[in-house]
Amino acid sequence: MNLALLGPPGSGKGTQSEKLVRKYGFFHVSTGDMLREEVKQNTPLGKGLYGILKRCELVQDALMIELLGQYVTHFAGKSVLLDGFPRTVPQARALSAIVDVDLVVVLSAPVELVLERMGGRWVCSACATTYHTSFAPPRQQGVCDRCGANLVQRTDDQPATIRRRYGLYTTQTQGVLAFYQNLGKMVRIDGTMNSDVVFETICQAVEKK
Ligand code: ADP
Ligand code: ADP
Ligand code: ZN
Repeated sequence: MNLALLGPPGSGKGTQSEKLVRKYGFFHVSTGDMLREEVKQNTPLGKGLYGILKRCELVQDALMIELLGQYVTHFAGKSVLLDGFPRTVPQARALSAIVDVDLVVVLSAPVELVLERMGGRWVCSACATTYHTSFAPPRQQGVCDRCGANLVQRTDDQPATIRRRYGLYTTQTQGVLAFYQNLGKMVRIDGTMNSDVVFETICQAVEKK
């Protein structure tokens, strides 16, 4: 089965993805991580993406679809967990030809909570595991529990850019929710709950499918 996790920035997609991968062995596809890796490696594509990511604009649909299409070889035949894709209706339509999504889980969280969460978010510079200074602290400050690499803050986790991304989600991604609701594939989950409770609720939805 293939799953897509949607929700505004800070709703817990990365955190829940990690738990889902551990429990069910999904192949995790985070388009945000994919794009940041291109920028970090300074590839020709990454050079063009730098400004777009910095301004927190959405990357063009055609490019995103092409990127995901190229990435297919990595997950062909595996159960995939999409994190951050699709974000627009054209992406959702194009996805149908690439992966058959069985379940779309939408995590909800108000902007005030998201601002609080993102202010304390730290991410592993090597494996992208996510931490929070108070809600999910690493065992040793500044060091990844899983691989020992150092933790960094994302340059786009500033209050003004968080608000902008939240606004973009509200305007651009609502159509995607309607798209999957009409297909009877969508489940909304309250992302403000404790992360273990959110996880259990997602697992129930997965197992029902
Ligand atoms: P967030 O924390 O806002 O959910 P992500 O890590 O998923 O952010 O994505 C970071 C940035 O990468 C976005 O602000 C956007 O510029 C770009 N991006 C990621 N996924 C997509 C997508 N499916 N379509 C367009 N742009 C994307
Ligand atoms: P997204 O991938 O949707 O942008 P993350 O999973 O990176 O969100 O979560 C954003 C921040 O909030 C991280 O620092 C994470 O540790 C923390 N977090 C995630 N889920 C919860 C939760 N249910 N309760 C409290 N903090 C959370
Ligand atoms: Zn790590």
